[in-house]
Amino acid sequence: MKTIAAVLCETSKELQIEELEIPELKPGQVLVNVIYSGACHSQLNEIKGLKGEDKFLPHVLGHEGSGIVEAIGRGVQKVKPGDRVVLTWIKGVGADTGSAVYKRKNGSIVNSGAISTFMTKAVISENRLVKIPDEMPLREAALLGCAVPTGAGVIINTARLSKGDTVAIFGIGGIGSSALLAAKLKQASLIIAVDIFDNKLDEALRLGATHAINAEKEDVLSKILKITDKRGVDYAIECAGKRESMESAFKSVRYQGGLCVIAGNLPQGERISIDPFDLIKGRRIIGTWGGESSIDKDILFYAAEYLSGRFEFDLLISDECGLKDINKIFKEMEQGKTNRVLINMERGY
Ligand SMILES: [Zn+2]
Repeated sequence: MKTIAAVLCETSKELQIEELEIPELKPGQVLVNVIYSGACHSQLNEIKGLKGEDKFLPHVLGHEGSGIVEAIGRGVQKVKPGDRVVLTWIKGVGADTGSAVYKRKNGSIVNSGAISTFMTKAVISENRLVKIPDEMPLREAALLGCAVPTGAGVIINTARLSKGDTVAIFGIGGIGSSALLAAKLKQASLIIAVDIFDNKLDEALRLGATHAINAEKEDVLSKILKITDKRGVDYAIECAGKRESMESAFKSVRYQGGLCVIAGNLPQGERISIDPFDLIKGRRIIGTWGGESSIDKDILFYAAEYLSGRFEFDLLISDECGLKDINKIFKEMEQGKTNRVLINMERGY
Protein backbone atom coordinates (compact mmCIF):
# COMPACT_ATOMS: atom_id res chain seq x y z
CA MET A 1 0.00 0.00 0.00
CA LYS A 2 1.23 3.48 -0.87
CA THR A 3 1.23 6.87 0.80
CA ILE A 4 2.16 10.30 -0.51
CA ALA A 5 4.46 12.18 1.84
CA ALA A 6 6.36 15.47 2.08
CA VAL A 7 9.91 14.32 2.84
CA LEU A 8 12.78 16.32 4.31
CA CYS A 9 15.79 15.01 2.35
CA GLU A 10 18.28 17.71 3.26
CA THR A 11 18.07 20.47 5.87
CA SER A 12 17.44 24.01 4.59
CA LYS A 13 15.92 22.56 1.39
CA GLU A 14 12.29 22.32 0.37
CA LEU A 15 10.31 19.20 1.31
CA GLN A 16 9.96 16.72 -1.58
CA ILE A 17 6.59 15.15 -2.35
CA GLU A 18 7.21 11.42 -2.79
CA GLU A 19 5.28 8.18 -3.07
CA LEU A 20 6.30 5.70 -0.35
CA GLU A 21 5.47 2.10 0.47
CA ILE A 22 3.68 1.69 3.80
CA PRO A 23 5.30 -0.94 6.04
CA GLU A 24 3.31 -3.77 7.60
CA LEU A 25 1.80 -2.75 10.93
CA LYS A 26 3.72 -3.84 14.00
CA PRO A 27 1.88 -4.62 17.25
CA GLY A 28 0.58 -1.38 18.74
CA GLN A 29 0.69 0.56 15.46
CA VAL A 30 -2.29 2.10 13.70
CA LEU A 31 -2.69 3.03 10.04
CA VAL A 32 -4.52 6.34 9.75
CA ASN A 33 -6.02 7.99 6.72
CA VAL A 34 -4.79 11.50 7.46
CA ILE A 35 -7.35 14.16 6.50
CA TYR A 36 -5.88 17.33 8.02
CA SER A 37 -2.42 18.20 9.28
CA GLY A 38 -1.26 21.29 11.09
CA ALA A 39 2.19 22.81 10.56
CA CYS A 40 4.16 24.33 13.44
CA HIS A 41 7.27 26.37 14.00
CA SER A 42 8.84 23.24 15.38
CA GLN A 43 8.87 21.69 11.87
CA LEU A 44 10.22 24.94 10.42
CA ASN A 45 13.12 24.61 12.89
CA GLU A 46 13.66 20.99 11.78
CA ILE A 47 13.63 21.98 8.12
CA LYS A 48 16.16 24.72 8.78
CA GLY A 49 18.34 22.32 10.77
CA LEU A 50 18.07 24.45 13.92
CA LYS A 51 17.49 21.45 16.18
CA GLY A 52 21.08 20.29 15.79
CA GLU A 53 22.48 17.57 13.54
CA ASP A 54 19.65 15.59 11.89
CA LYS A 55 20.61 11.90 12.01
CA PHE A 56 17.30 10.71 10.60
CA LEU A 57 17.43 12.20 7.10
CA PRO A 58 15.53 11.56 4.94
CA HIS A 59 12.40 11.68 7.08
CA VAL A 60 8.78 12.71 7.20
CA LEU A 61 7.61 15.50 9.53
CA GLY A 62 4.44 16.75 11.15
CA HIS A 63 3.11 16.18 14.64
CA GLU A 64 -0.51 17.28 14.75
CA GLY A 65 -3.44 16.22 12.64
CA SER A 66 -6.73 14.43 12.35
CA GLY A 67 -8.01 11.50 10.35
CA ILE A 68 -9.83 8.20 10.23
CA VAL A 69 -8.40 4.87 11.39
CA GLU A 70 -7.95 2.48 8.48
CA ALA A 71 -6.31 -0.55 10.14
CA ILE A 72 -4.88 -1.55 13.50
CA GLY A 73 -1.93 -3.71 14.48
CA ARG A 74 -2.05 -6.53 17.00
CA GLY A 75 -2.93 -5.54 20.54
CA VAL A 76 -4.38 -2.11 19.73
CA GLN A 77 -7.40 -1.47 21.96
CA LYS A 78 -7.78 2.27 22.02
CA VAL A 79 -9.16 2.69 18.48
CA LYS A 80 -10.73 0.60 15.73
CA PRO A 81 -11.11 1.02 11.94
CA GLY A 82 -13.52 3.83 11.12
CA ASP A 83 -12.82 5.82 14.31
CA ARG A 84 -12.24 9.54 13.93
CA VAL A 85 -9.02 10.48 15.68
CA VAL A 86 -6.69 13.31 16.63
CA LEU A 87 -3.02 12.63 15.88
CA THR A 88 -0.77 14.19 18.49
CA TRP A 89 2.93 14.18 19.42
CA ILE A 90 1.99 14.30 23.09
CA LYS A 91 1.99 10.80 24.56
CA GLY A 92 -1.24 9.39 25.96
CA VAL A 93 -2.30 5.90 26.98
CA GLY A 94 -1.67 2.91 24.71
CA ALA A 95 1.32 1.14 23.20
CA ASP A 96 4.45 3.24 22.57
CA THR A 97 5.87 1.69 19.42
CA GLY A 98 8.52 4.18 18.42
CA SER A 99 9.21 4.95 14.79
CA ALA A 100 7.90 3.67 11.46
CA VAL A 101 10.14 3.23 8.40
CA TYR A 102 8.80 3.72 4.87
CA LYS A 103 10.39 2.60 1.61
CA ARG A 104 10.88 4.34 -1.72
CA LYS A 105 10.36 2.56 -5.04
CA ASN A 106 14.15 2.09 -5.34
CA GLY A 107 14.27 0.35 -1.93
CA SER A 108 15.93 3.21 -0.01
CA ILE A 109 14.31 4.09 3.29
CA VAL A 110 12.55 7.17 4.65
CA ASN A 111 12.36 7.54 8.42
CA SER A 112 9.49 8.71 10.52
CA GLY A 113 8.80 9.20 14.21
CA ALA A 114 6.08 7.58 16.29
CA ILE A 115 3.89 10.14 14.53
CA SER A 116 4.11 11.91 11.17
CA THR A 117 1.31 13.87 9.60
CA PHE A 118 2.73 15.38 6.39
CA MET A 119 1.41 12.36 4.49
CA THR A 120 -1.87 10.98 3.16
CA LYS A 121 -1.68 7.72 5.16
CA ALA A 122 0.50 7.35 8.22
CA VAL A 123 1.58 4.62 10.61
CA ILE A 124 1.11 5.99 14.11
CA SER A 125 1.88 4.63 17.56
CA GLU A 126 -1.33 3.85 19.49
CA ASN A 127 -0.42 6.25 22.29
CA ARG A 128 -0.35 9.24 19.88
CA LEU A 129 -4.03 8.89 18.95
CA VAL A 130 -7.17 10.07 20.69
CA LYS A 131 -10.65 9.13 19.50
CA ILE A 132 -12.97 12.14 19.22
CA PRO A 133 -16.78 12.40 19.21
CA ASP A 134 -18.64 12.25 15.90
CA GLU A 135 -19.84 15.86 16.22
CA MET A 136 -16.26 17.21 16.37
CA PRO A 137 -15.28 18.39 12.85
CA LEU A 138 -11.95 16.94 11.64
CA ARG A 139 -10.79 20.32 10.35
CA GLU A 140 -10.81 21.99 13.77
CA ALA A 141 -9.79 18.71 15.45
CA ALA A 142 -6.39 18.88 13.72
CA LEU A 143 -5.42 21.71 16.08
CA LEU A 144 -6.05 19.45 19.08
CA GLY A 145 -2.79 17.61 18.30
CA CYS A 146 -0.36 20.36 19.27
CA ALA A 147 -1.35 24.02 19.11
CA VAL A 148 -4.41 23.84 21.34
CA PRO A 149 -3.18 21.40 24.04
CA THR A 150 0.17 23.17 24.25
CA GLY A 151 -1.19 26.73 24.31
CA ALA A 152 -4.30 26.08 26.37
CA GLY A 153 -2.46 23.59 28.58
CA VAL A 154 0.10 26.25 29.47
CA ILE A 155 -2.70 28.49 30.75
CA ILE A 156 -4.89 25.81 32.34
CA ASN A 157 -2.43 23.12 33.56
CA THR A 158 0.95 24.86 33.84
CA ALA A 159 0.10 28.40 34.99
CA ARG A 160 -3.30 27.42 36.44
CA LEU A 161 -4.63 30.87 35.65
CA SER A 162 -7.80 31.80 37.54
CA LYS A 163 -10.58 34.27 36.90
CA GLY A 164 -9.35 37.86 37.28
CA ASP A 165 -5.62 37.09 36.82
CA THR A 166 -3.51 39.10 34.37
CA VAL A 167 -1.42 37.59 31.60
CA ALA A 168 0.96 38.71 28.85
CA ILE A 169 1.46 36.44 25.87
CA PHE A 170 4.67 36.87 23.87
CA GLY A 171 4.42 35.60 20.29
CA ILE A 172 1.02 35.23 18.68
CA GLY A 173 1.48 32.11 16.56
CA GLY A 174 -0.52 28.92 16.91
CA ILE A 175 0.46 28.28 20.52
CA GLY A 176 0.26 31.92 21.61
CA SER A 177 -3.19 32.37 20.13
CA SER A 178 -4.51 29.18 21.73
CA ALA A 179 -3.08 30.37 25.04
CA LEU A 180 -4.92 33.64 24.45
CA LEU A 181 -8.24 31.89 23.78
CA ALA A 182 -7.75 29.74 26.89
CA ALA A 183 -7.02 32.87 28.97
CA LYS A 184 -10.32 34.26 27.68
CA LEU A 185 -12.07 30.96 28.53
CA LYS A 186 -10.65 31.25 32.08
CA GLN A 187 -11.75 34.90 32.30
CA ALA A 188 -8.39 36.62 32.73
CA SER A 189 -8.91 40.32 33.51
CA LEU A 190 -6.05 41.52 31.27
CA ILE A 191 -4.70 39.71 28.22
CA ILE A 192 -1.72 41.57 26.78
CA ALA A 193 -0.47 40.36 23.39
CA VAL A 194 3.14 41.05 22.39
CA ASP A 195 4.52 40.44 18.90
CA ILE A 196 6.62 42.17 16.25
CA PHE A 197 4.04 41.83 13.49
CA ASP A 198 1.07 44.22 13.42
CA ASN A 199 -1.08 41.67 11.57
CA LYS A 200 -0.60 39.18 14.42
CA LEU A 201 -1.46 41.86 16.99
CA ASP A 202 -4.65 42.71 15.09
CA GLU A 203 -5.43 39.01 15.13
CA ALA A 204 -4.80 38.89 18.89
CA LEU A 205 -7.25 41.75 19.46
CA ARG A 206 -9.80 39.96 17.30
CA LEU A 207 -9.37 36.82 19.44
CA GLY A 208 -9.97 38.75 22.66
CA ALA A 209 -6.70 40.35 23.81
CA THR A 210 -7.34 43.50 25.85
CA HIS A 211 -4.03 45.16 24.81
CA ALA A 212 -1.50 44.72 22.02
CA ILE A 213 2.16 45.77 22.05
CA ASN A 214 4.48 45.82 19.04
CA ALA A 215 7.88 44.91 20.52
CA GLU A 216 9.74 46.54 17.64
CA LYS A 217 7.98 49.87 17.93
CA GLU A 218 7.32 50.18 21.66
CA ASP A 219 9.12 49.52 24.94
CA VAL A 220 7.39 46.33 26.07
CA LEU A 221 8.28 46.46 29.76
CA SER A 222 7.33 50.06 30.40
CA LYS A 223 4.06 49.59 28.52
CA ILE A 224 3.18 46.47 30.57
CA LEU A 225 4.00 48.35 33.79
CA LYS A 226 1.73 51.17 32.68
CA ILE A 227 -1.15 48.81 31.83
CA THR A 228 -0.82 46.96 35.16
CA ASP A 229 -0.39 50.04 37.40
CA LYS A 230 3.35 49.38 37.86
CA ARG A 231 2.69 45.89 39.20
CA GLY A 232 3.63 43.61 36.31
CA VAL A 233 1.51 40.69 35.14
CA ASP A 234 0.65 37.56 37.13
CA TYR A 235 1.68 35.35 34.23
CA ALA A 236 3.82 35.76 31.11
CA ILE A 237 3.73 33.04 28.49
CA GLU A 238 6.60 33.03 25.99
CA CYS A 239 5.64 31.42 22.70
CA ALA A 240 7.81 33.38 20.26
CA GLY A 241 10.92 31.27 20.74
CA LYS A 242 13.19 34.34 20.78
CA ARG A 243 15.89 35.19 23.31
CA GLU A 244 14.88 38.86 23.79
CA SER A 245 11.26 37.88 24.12
CA MET A 246 12.04 35.24 26.78
CA GLU A 247 14.08 37.76 28.74
CA SER A 248 11.41 40.44 28.65
CA ALA A 249 8.64 37.92 29.40
CA PHE A 250 10.50 37.04 32.62
CA LYS A 251 10.93 40.72 33.51
CA SER A 252 7.27 41.48 32.84
CA VAL A 253 5.92 39.31 35.69
CA ARG A 254 5.26 40.84 39.08
CA TYR A 255 7.55 40.41 42.07
CA GLN A 256 6.42 38.04 44.85
CA GLY A 257 4.91 35.29 42.82
CA GLY A 258 4.67 36.26 39.14
CA LEU A 259 5.32 33.30 36.87
CA CYS A 260 6.95 33.22 33.44
CA VAL A 261 6.39 30.06 31.39
CA ILE A 262 8.71 29.37 28.46
CA ALA A 263 6.79 27.52 25.73
CA GLY A 264 8.83 28.68 22.70
CA ASN A 265 11.89 26.88 21.34
CA LEU A 266 15.26 28.56 20.88
CA PRO A 267 17.71 27.26 18.28
CA GLN A 268 19.95 24.66 19.92
CA GLY A 269 22.89 26.19 21.77
CA GLU A 270 21.36 29.64 22.28
CA ARG A 271 21.13 30.87 25.89
CA ILE A 272 19.03 33.39 27.77
CA SER A 273 20.22 35.60 30.56
CA ILE A 274 18.32 36.51 33.73
CA ASP A 275 19.20 38.52 36.82
CA PRO A 276 19.12 36.19 39.88
CA PHE A 277 18.03 39.15 41.98
CA ASP A 278 14.69 38.95 40.18
CA LEU A 279 14.34 35.36 41.44
CA ILE A 280 15.08 36.46 44.98
CA LYS A 281 12.36 39.07 44.69
CA GLY A 282 9.89 36.36 43.79
CA ARG A 283 9.76 36.27 40.00
CA ARG A 284 9.54 32.67 38.85
CA ILE A 285 10.39 31.01 35.55
CA ILE A 286 9.60 27.50 34.35
CA GLY A 287 9.31 25.55 31.11
CA THR A 288 6.49 23.41 29.85
CA TRP A 289 6.22 20.01 28.22
CA GLY A 290 3.27 20.23 25.86
CA GLY A 291 1.29 22.26 28.37
CA GLU A 292 1.50 19.39 30.90
CA SER A 293 -1.34 17.81 28.98
CA SER A 294 -3.04 14.56 29.99
CA ILE A 295 -3.86 14.23 26.36
CA ASP A 296 -6.65 11.64 26.49
CA LYS A 297 -8.62 13.70 28.99
CA ASP A 298 -7.66 17.19 27.78
CA ILE A 299 -8.52 16.67 24.09
CA LEU A 300 -12.03 15.56 25.02
CA PHE A 301 -12.38 18.57 27.35
CA TYR A 302 -11.27 21.03 24.63
CA ALA A 303 -13.54 19.33 22.06
CA ALA A 304 -16.51 19.63 24.46
CA GLU A 305 -15.72 23.31 25.16
CA TYR A 306 -15.44 23.91 21.41
CA LEU A 307 -18.77 22.22 20.71
CA SER A 308 -20.42 24.29 23.45
CA GLY A 309 -19.15 27.49 21.80
CA ARG A 310 -17.02 28.62 24.76
CA PHE A 311 -13.62 27.82 23.26
CA GLU A 312 -13.51 29.15 19.72
CA PHE A 313 -10.26 27.71 18.45
CA ASP A 314 -11.67 27.46 14.92
CA LEU A 315 -10.77 31.18 14.78
CA LEU A 316 -7.11 30.12 14.70
CA ILE A 317 -7.38 28.59 11.24
CA SER A 318 -6.57 31.22 8.66
CA ASP A 319 -6.57 29.03 5.54
CA GLU A 320 -6.03 25.56 4.17
CA CYS A 321 -4.06 24.13 1.25
CA GLY A 322 -3.08 20.83 -0.36
CA LEU A 323 0.07 18.83 0.45
CA LYS A 324 1.63 20.16 -2.77
CA ASP A 325 1.69 23.68 -1.32
CA ILE A 326 3.36 22.69 1.94
CA ASN A 327 6.63 24.53 1.26
CA LYS A 328 4.70 27.76 0.81
CA ILE A 329 3.32 27.41 4.36
CA PHE A 330 6.82 27.35 5.82
CA LYS A 331 8.03 30.22 3.66
CA GLU A 332 5.13 32.34 4.87
CA MET A 333 5.57 31.19 8.47
CA GLU A 334 9.15 32.40 8.34
CA GLN A 335 7.98 35.78 7.15
CA GLY A 336 5.36 35.93 9.92
CA LYS A 337 2.74 36.29 7.20
CA THR A 338 0.29 33.61 8.15
CA ASN A 339 -1.35 32.53 11.33
CA ARG A 340 -2.26 28.88 10.85
CA VAL A 341 -2.75 27.16 7.52
CA LEU A 342 -3.96 23.56 7.65
CA ILE A 343 -2.95 20.97 5.08
CA ASN A 344 -6.03 19.24 3.72
CA MET A 345 -4.95 15.90 2.20
CA GLU A 346 -8.13 15.80 0.11
CA ARG A 347 -6.97 18.86 -1.80
CA GLY A 348 -4.42 16.87 -3.77
CA TYR A 349 -0.68 16.57 -3.97
ZN1 LIG B 1 3.57 21.63 17.16
